[in-house]
Amino acid sequence: MLHGSTELVAIVGSPITQVKSPENFNRWFQANRHDLAMLPIDIREDALDAFIATLRGWQNLRGVVVTVPYKQALAGRLDEVSERAAALGSVNVIRRQADGRLLGDNVDGEGFLNAACLNGFRAEGKRALVIGAGGVGSAIAWSLCQAGVASLVLSDASAARCQALAELLGKAFARVRIAIGYDSLQGFDLVVNATPAGMGGTGELPLDAAQLDSLDSATLVADVVTSPEITPLLAAARERGCAIQTGPQMVFAQLGNLGHFMGVTPLQL
Ligand code: NAD
Repeated sequence: MLHGSTELVAIVGSPITQVKSPENFNRWFQANRHDLAMLPIDIREDALDAFIATLRGWQNLRGVVVTVPYKQALAGRLDEVSERAAALGSVNVIRRQADGRLLGDNVDGEGFLNAACLNGFRAEGKRALVIGAGGVGSAIAWSLCQAGVASLVLSDASAARCQALAELLGKAFARVRIAIGYDSLQGFDLVVNATPAGMGGTGELPLDAAQLDSLDSATLVADVVTSPEITPLLAAARERGCAIQTGPQMVFAQLGNLGHFMGVTPLQL
């Protein structure tokens, strides 16, 4: 139930009907008796400047979760962003300070790492492959480097995106061996699909089906795709005896990071 005293957070994107954050946050607010609520906001791109101006003046709004397609567009419109959000050029969460200033961060990579940790993965000294050097792949790659992987291999249908991400990470994390492209999956502790391949039941794999034969059963295989929960890649990995991590696990593991940045939940829910 909303009251005059209820403080708000929001999630903004377009479209917005598919997001699960309002259910997740509102259930948590209710269960913990917080006078807070999350609103879904579907906004047109040509209204973003007006939206930002409204956020600055919106006194009972604590923060905003940002989803597709505005993670990059909003990053450049805030008063301050974290080091990783500045490097990645994208935000997925905004905190509104009491004076109206807007601060941004990108916790996609943290959500991924939280879920991986729950699946028994520790990044220090490990060898990881991230397929997909777009928004979410870049955030995951950044967090893996920050958490101390020894080596990271990047792959993307766009060679230019891969190269740009490799250069960015190489500058920020001199200790990590960064490479582009792979032939075999052998020897990776972690393989991540951070592309939309497999989304919506297309049956598509983000890699050559023959490469799956080189997958070790000791490798953790993760997918960012949320629907279906078990993507073709995860199904194939499970058949080969690998531990798997789903897209919804990453979404769920990130709720505390989002809520904590907005100042409305603890870091761990
Ligand atoms: P994006 O468009 O920024 O990046 C996708 C990248 O994948 C692009 O660089 C593209 O060139 C590459 N690509 C596409 N198909 C490929 C293929 N078959 N092989 C190699 N590279 C390929 O998109 P994004 O914002 O990074 O989102 C990617 C996916 O992640 C989406 O499906 C999105 O729904 C999902 N996502 C999940 C979470 C989560 O918490 N689980 C969070 C954010 C995004």
